[in-house]
Amino acid sequence: MTGNLQATAPLVDGATLSDQVTEVLRHNVVNGIWGVGDVLPSETTLASDFDVSRTVIREAVSRLKAEGMLSSRQGRGAFVASDRPRQGFAIPERDMESQRKLEQILELRMGLEIEAAAIAAARATPEACQEIQRAAAAYDQSNKIGGPAVASGVSADLAFHRAVCEATGNSYYLSLFNYLVASLRETMLAGRLQALKRGGESRDAIQEHYDIAASIAQGDAERARQRMRDHLQMSSGRLLAQLKTEDGLGE
Ligand SMILES: [Zn+2]
Repeated sequence: MTGNLQATAPLVDGATLSDQVTEVLRHNVVNGIWGVGDVLPSETTLASDFDVSRTVIREAVSRLKAEGMLSSRQGRGAFVASDRPRQGFAIPERDMESQRKLEQILELRMGLEIEAAAIAAARATPEACQEIQRAAAAYDQSNKIGGPAVASGVSADLAFHRAVCEATGNSYYLSLFNYLVASLRETMLAGRLQALKRGGESRDAIQEHYDIAASIAQGDAERARQRMRDHLQMSSGRLLAQLKTEDGLGE
């Protein structure tokens, strides 16, 4: 098997080859490694990358088509149609149109990530701590770039939160986080764009990330929990305030 398969979350016993390939392809789409509109490598290339038959690749692709994540154009192969699955823990897109629903998603995210921070503080390996610290620094860096880097700022923020979920060692935290943020990403982009139009984002988020990283590295679960709660409350507040001037969010 190649690195492609090893990169995925651990699989339950008895997963078939096609289950495994489906999981890796889904992972790549949900995590934005392949963006919406990107054309996938050819069946032959994928088969050789994964060291499986083309039949296995075809089956995985058709499952993701059924979920609405992939589609195909005549003669051009499969491409990414959506970064959130229609089935499973998906949040319908129309929910994001209402502020109340947005608040509910943010609330759910809070429950998930506050506990993830505490578990990470108790369990994170030195490597995972370094990864969180690196992600906090990358977010800091992305904020210095400014204007055109709206999307990279949102990605850097999400990468930090993903690193915390990953540090729990419980792959379900990461999977659930990925589902949640797939629904939030567009809204976060809109919020960040608004903030930049008004002369820049709050610098607080940068320090909040560093503080979370430090309490996880110190193994202080209670402080990690508190700092993640503070950060998510502050950033939800900032996001909702940024969106207030946007049309279509009020009910
Ligand atoms: Zn953040």
